[in-house]
Order: sequence, then C-alpha cells, then structure tokens
Amino acid sequence: MKSSQYLLATLREQPAEAEIASHGLMLRAGLVRRIGAGLYNWLPLGARVLSKVTAIIRQEMNAAGAHELVMPLVQPAELWQQSGRWDSSGPELARLQDRHHRDYCLAPTHEEVITALARQELTSYRQLPINLYQIQTKFRDEIRPRFGVMRAREFMMMDSYSFHTNQASLEQTYQDMYDCYGRILQRMGLEYRVVEADSGNIGGQVSHEFQVLSGVGEDILVVGDGSDYVANIERAACLSPKARVVGIAEDLQKVATPEAKSIDSVSALLGVAAAKTVKTLALRGTEGSIVAVVLRGDHSLNLSKIGRRDEIASPVELVDADELKQQLGLPAGFIGPCGLKIPLLVDHSAAHLTNFVCGANEEGYHLTGVNWGRDAEATATGDFRNITEGELCSDGLSRARFVRGIEVGHIFQLGDKYSTAMAARVLDDKGRQKALIMGCYGIGVSRMVAAFIEQNHDDKGILWSPTLCPFEVVLLPLNFGRSQVVRNAADSLYRQLINAGVEVLMDDRDERPGVKFTDSELIGIPYSVVIGDRNLAA
Ligand code: ATP
Ligand code: MG
Repeated sequence: MKSSQYLLATLREQPAEAEIASHGLMLRAGLVRRIGAGLYNWLPLGARVLSKVTAIIRQEMNAAGAHELVMPLVQPAELWQQSGRWDSSGPELARLQDRHHRDYCLAPTHEEVITALARQELTSYRQLPINLYQIQTKFRDEIRPRFGVMRAREFMMMDSYSFHTNQASLEQTYQDMYDCYGRILQRMGLEYRVVEADSGNIGGQVSHEFQVLSGVGEDILVVGDGSDYVANIERAACLSPKARVVGIAEDLQKVATPEAKSIDSVSALLGVAAAKTVKTLALRGTEGSIVAVVLRGDHSLNLSKIGRRDEIASPVELVDADELKQQLGLPAGFIGPCGLKIPLLVDHSAAHLTNFVCGANEEGYHLTGVNWGRDAEATATGDFRNITEGELCSDGLSRARFVRGIEVGHIFQLGDKYSTAMAARVLDDKGRQKALIMGCYGIGVSRMVAAFIEQNHDDKGILWSPTLCPFEVVLLPLNFGRSQVVRNAADSLYRQLINAGVEVLMDDRDERPGVKFTDSELIGIPYSVVIGDRNLAA
C-alpha cells in the first residue's frame, strides 16, 4: 500500500534480490514455482507448510473469539467509490470491467466489502462486539514485486475486522488481536518486534506492525538504544529543534552554481555543510495545485507524514521537471522557498535554520544568507522528514538506531472512517443510530513462510521447526529399486508411521544416496530415517 520503500532506498541500500536466501531455497526445495511477475504456484510441499500456518492461525483466532467467513476477491467499484478509495488508491489497485462494462477491482484488502456486509447484517448494539476473519487471496499490483512470495502481487492474507459501538470495546478487541498475533508468531518460532506504525491508506490513528527481524527486510525500524522505543521509520516522530539560534543575519546573495543541481554538488561547490542548505520538493497538491515541501539538505522526505497533510494529493506524487517548468516556470534543481507563489510546507528542522543556502528559482543560481521571515515565509511547519540514525528518539530517552524488518502483520484501530463513509450504523443502548466503530487486522500468511525461512536456514537448506515442517519424518531407503529387503522394511515402516499419525515422506526415487541426503537437507524435514541393507542387517 505504500511507495515510500522506494524513497527509503536513499536512506540505506535496499537488499538485492540475490541476498534473499528464502526465495532461492523455496524454489530449490520445491515449495513454489513462479508463473508470472509476482504470481506463484504453491507445490505440494509448500502447500503443506501453508496449511500448517493457517491451522495455527485458525486455532488462535477462534480461541480469541473471532468467527471465520469468506468474502469475494472481485469487488464492485461502487463500494470503493463510497469509501473514497476508488480515487485515492494508486495503480496498485487492479481495476477491471465485466461484460456489461461495470467496474470492479481485485481485492487488495476487504474493508469496503465487510463494511457493506455489516451495514446489512448488524442493526443493534446487542450484536456487538463481533470479530470476523477470513484466510483469502489478495491482489495488489505492486510496482516492484520481488523476493518471491515475500512481495508478490497475488498473496494469501488472514484479515479480520471487528465492529463496536464504542472506543473502549474496540481497544479491548485490539488488545486481544495484539496478543493473538503474538501467540501466532511465537508458535511459528519467529523472532519479531511489535512496532508503532503508520496506518497508510487503510486509515485510522493507532496501528502496530509485527515485524520479523531480518537484515533483508524492506522496512526500516527505529529502535531506541537503551529504551524500549521502537517504531517504523514511516511513523517515527522527529523532535523539533529547540529555539532558533539567533545570530547576525547575513545579507542575501545570489551566487552562480552552474550544473549544481543536487545538494551534494551545491554544498561541495559553496563549501557549506548539507545541513546548512535546504531542498525544496514540488508535490502534487489537492485540486490540481502544486505544493512545495522544504527540508534540510541532509534530510529525506517521509511520505507517510507528508501524505497525512490535507493539502497533499493521495497517493503522494512528485511533480516532474517538465510540469514544473510549464506550470510555474521553475527550473528543477534550482528551486527554493524565496518568492515562490505556491504553499510552502517547511519541516521543523529546515524552519530552524538561519543564513542557509537554497535554490534561487533561476537556472544555474542559488541564494546564500537566506533567513525565514525576511526572505521567505512558511505556510505551515511540521514534521515531514525521516528521523536519522543517532538523533534523539521522540521518547526523549534514547538515540535512534536502524534495524531491518519484514512486516508480517499489521493491526489498526480504524474508528468510523468506513462506517461513516458507507453509512453502516446500529442502534446503541439508548436507541440512537450510531456509526460502527471498527478495527482491522491482517497477517501475511504466504509472506510469513518466506520470513520463517529467512530466519531459519543454513547453507545446506531450510531448518523447519516441528510446527511448520511439511513432513515430520523422511524415509531414505537406499538402493530402493534393487533391494527387496530395503523395500519391505521401508514400506512397513512407512505404514506404521502413517498409522501412528506421523506425517511421513518416503523418498522412493531411484537416486543415489548422496542426492537423497542433499535433497532431504535442502527441504529440511526434522527427522530422517536411513534404510539400507547394511544398517538393516546390523
Ligand atoms: P507492505 O508495507 O509490505 O507493502 P502493507 O503495509 O501494504 O505491506 P497491509 O495492508 O498492512 O500491508 O497488509 C497486511 C499484511 O499483508 C502485511 O503485514 C503483509 O504481511 C502482507 N502483505 C502485504 N503486501 C504483501 C505482498 N505484496 N506480498 C505478500 N504479503 C503482503
Ligand atoms: Mg501494513
């Protein structure tokens, strides 16, 4: 649902496709096969693992009082128009038409459909709270599907939705789901952290992500060194600087900076630190406007934070050089806040600068000695940037350190965003019509399998835990084709284990022992029994 990962690439190198061990292992061990970009077949071994994961999820969700249902993958556009997300969703929402030219989308998530269902079925507070879940296919036309099933276009999700008449009841179920997700991840044997998260296009104010720690994760988590602060960088608030340093204001000067279009080249040319420069980004605003966002030169834009501003169009989009030139006559690479005739959203730390350097809004020139108030005026200031490593976290107690995580689960307190937009109301205990209060909760079932393998493998193969292994025992009869003794012993042991309820796989291929051993280590079945003429005799 977010494109910030691509901007985050500038924060820290993104893991390369080749670094993802899990994908290679899933292919080599015969768990999955690719059939198109972001589209996978789950082969029998993989399907067995998936069903173990879904069994754990079902047990825990049922135990937490949720009820399973199944909703359609193809959803009428009308519902998405009612919620407002038909327009606010970007191209990752796959839209299609039926033979009657009616519009539909492929479900990237199910808030609209469940709210429409709740609107029909729920009439009274007496039916609440209720928590409904499904384990189902989602489709998101991801801009860059990669890492196999980790970021696929079609993937399996367990999503649930809870309905309430008041915030306290929502908070109770939210806590139940928080605990339930923790139990699911623990039973799967994943090492994870729960982090404060951004709600993105799903909506609501409070949300947490369940992040599996892994060097190849796509998310950057901000961890407080020495405190228990942990947040997704999308969410991690930056403390605003203390009062502005008041010094002598320098004169404003226009200096020639031909070819210097980047912060690095400007600061090298003028011999000033990037932190004493500002960069001005032009973003698409609402109603066809263009809005400038000003950051300190050494900082990067946080798409989630800026995306929450009313002035900014959703999804967040940079205005390209051609349009800037045509619409505003501005030269990309030389834009600055002085004399700009569009709204200026200035990040706190840029607003704090004095005597700084910025583009002169003229090809080949920058301004030095720039001061707010005298030379430029912010329309609004706020926290629009990514926190940097080493700075104070918003708890005020610890310094930020970055670690990487794979997001496997995300829970949201939605409030009444969908129920108000879609008129889903019930009668409360005083007989008044009230918009339903909602929560929604999602776990990436297929991604979780890849995340487990990422954390549990060695150079020989996957290291399944007894809870997730596709089979518990593999029988490795040697010389199976030729030795009647081996064949009889293997067949009999196979039947005994099946009868005892053990999940057993028999490697009855006519392969050399070495091949069988290598493959069984690659697949990573916890126990193997080698049956050969020699050890049978012994
Ligand atoms: P991401 O930030 O990774 O794109 P998201 O925040 O958009 O994910 P949610 O809308 O929170 O995802 O969906 C719930 C869960 O579905 C995620 O926590 C993740 O485990 C899983 N998921 C989301 N997108 C994908 C995908 N493209 N492939 C596999 N699993 C996914
Ligand atoms: Mg999410």
